[in-house]
Amino acid sequence: MFRIGNGIDFHRLEVNPNRPFVLGGYVIESELALVGHSDADILLHAISDSILGALALGDIGEYFPDTDLKWKNMNSKKILQKCLELMEQRGFHLVNVDSTILAERPKISPYKAQIRLSLSQILNLSIENISIKATTTEKMGFIGREEGIGVFSTVLLVANEFLIPQSR
Ligand SMILES: [Zn+2]
Repeated sequence: MFRIGNGIDFHRLEVNPNRPFVLGGYVIESELALVGHSDADILLHAISDSILGALALGDIGEYFPDTDLKWKNMNSKKILQKCLELMEQRGFHLVNVDSTILAERPKISPYKAQIRLSLSQILNLSIENISIKATTTEKMGFIGREEGIGVFSTVLLVANEFLIPQSR
């Protein structure tokens, strides 16, 4: 009746005022941007992977290979949309999402509320079922050196026949 899944993603950071910094579909004002084949929305990638993981359907690299020009600069909402479709086809609903963003820069905390709201719209899930946490690595490693950021995500799915109306 329940399925749990985790997703992890990392992207390199660059200074690029011409490229938007997108996190969970929300554009953060920053001179920094994430490097990636698509729009590099690392949070949507990690959540997408956690949904695929819960269903044991592989990872987003299998569905959206970064060698395929089709996905270049693509809006990552389309990746997540595809994963939600796969979930629905198998008769499951999202219960909740919990994600942790590891970043030294830009500071994520001021945007947590907006990111949750954006995710709530993309996932069609009430905001109290969406958790966004942020932490640094205390200046250690590649995240501490501001070379990149990481996201860990966990989702819980429930089979439609066990869906409690209040959970949506
Ligand atoms: Zn990614």
